[in-house]
Amino acid sequence: MRGKLIVISGPSGVGKSTVVKEVMAQCETLQFSVSATTRPMRPGEVDGKNYYFVSRDTFQRLIDEDQLLEYAEYVGNYYGTPVGPLDEALAAGRDVLLDIEVQGALRVKSRRPDAILIFMLAPSFQDIEARLYGRGDTAPELILGRLERARWEYTQAVNYDYLVVNDNVDKAVSEILAILKAEKCKAPERLHLLKEDN
Ligand code: 5GP
Repeated sequence: MRGKLIVISGPSGVGKSTVVKEVMAQCETLQFSVSATTRPMRPGEVDGKNYYFVSRDTFQRLIDEDQLLEYAEYVGNYYGTPVGPLDEALAAGRDVLLDIEVQGALRVKSRRPDAILIFMLAPSFQDIEARLYGRGDTAPELILGRLERARWEYTQAVNYDYLVVNDNVDKAVSEILAILKAEKCKAPERLHLLKEDN
């Protein structure tokens, strides 16, 4: 059985990385899709684990060689999903989780209609602002760009399959795990159970 492609989006400041990290920790069979990006590395990030940090030239080469399933510009930097490792994992039956922004997520859905799209909301918009300013790892002028982008991203949430509110990390994590479980119980996934010799 092919693995599931799970896409999680949510504006910067929604607390998505914490939730995604916890989902990965609790679901051993899930593989995280490591994106390529031209954004500078933040303190604590590891090349090849959080992202592949690449130059603009290298990113352009990945596009030219058709090595990205999707890519998007996000507040001045490029981000893209390497297609090779993703397809390898799916073909081997492993589920893959993508943490990507809205434009990329919608592009994935159009290229892979069976992808499961989850949008993460903050309890309120003020919450997003407070978190972005409080985090201290993004320059104030970039925060304004991210807030503007967050407003636009919210308008796109209707195109997603599931909405999860991050008012509590444990709750958000368990909802995402429940979505995965339910997707695996869908009839087309389980038709083999109906065979007589089963
Ligand atoms: P950050 O710079 O905070 O790590 O990420 C900024 C945004 O880029 C986040 O919304 C994140 O989900 C998104 N992102 C990360 N990787 C990719 C990718 O491969 N493709 C797209 N379209 N967005 C990505």
